[in-house]
Amino acid sequence: MEDMVKGAIDKGLNMICFTDHYDFLYPSLGVETWSFTFCVEDYFKMISDLKEQYRGQIEILTGVELGLRNEPAIREKTRAFYKKMVNEFPFDFVIGSTHVLENTDPYYDAYWIGKTKETGLRDYFTSIKENASFYSCFDVYGHLDYMIRYVRDTEKDYNASDYQDILDEALKKLIVSGKGIELNTSGFKYGLNRPHPKMEILKRYKELGGTILSIGSDAHKPEHLAYDFKKAKNLLNELGFSYYTIFKERKPVQIKL
Ligand SMILES: [Zn+2]
Repeated sequence: MEDMVKGAIDKGLNMICFTDHYDFLYPSLGVETWSFTFCVEDYFKMISDLKEQYRGQIEILTGVELGLRNEPAIREKTRAFYKKMVNEFPFDFVIGSTHVLENTDPYYDAYWIGKTKETGLRDYFTSIKENASFYSCFDVYGHLDYMIRYVRDTEKDYNASDYQDILDEALKKLIVSGKGIELNTSGFKYGLNRPHPKMEILKRYKELGGTILSIGSDAHKPEHLAYDFKKAKNLLNELGFSYYTIFKERKPVQIKL
């Protein structure tokens, strides 16, 4: 974490928000056993020490990315767990994301058994639509279409208009709930030449009245901090956005692009 803070200072950033990934009940998927949880108390303690140490050099905010789940068997439990977490700890910013659905991760082949690209994407977007209604523990929905990376073809692209019925419902729900979406620049890093979500969805979000838009680089290494933020800025200007959003103490702050 200290390397990230130093990296941010080196890049001339005046602020950094950690959003470590927390996936409650991440399934055991056979070959590899991943855990996406951590001790939230220690996390706050580490960030508080870093704030102290780097005071005056950079502002450090505490966020988290929560993996939301729509499976009927576990969603109540997941919602209660996250609700308690965000009430107990003073996060600045909470991202909600879909990484897992149908008790598997689209990263793995198991998800794609019996699915086409079209049904795989449709099911993924449906889980976002459902989570957008079911959960209130988050501020923005993260990387809406990142699972396109795991589609089993080489094209790694899609027409958002093919899923407009579902996506519109999800976006409208987020907007009326006072929540936003994230522009995640990791798509550039992965060679997709576009952010998550793709331009069509950002455009539609704006058309539907969406104004809350955070920008994140999903950096797992210092060199990826603020990755291609210039491209994000240009793209948002092109779409007619004038502001982007950061969160402090879970409240949106609009900043001119
Ligand atoms: Zn994520």
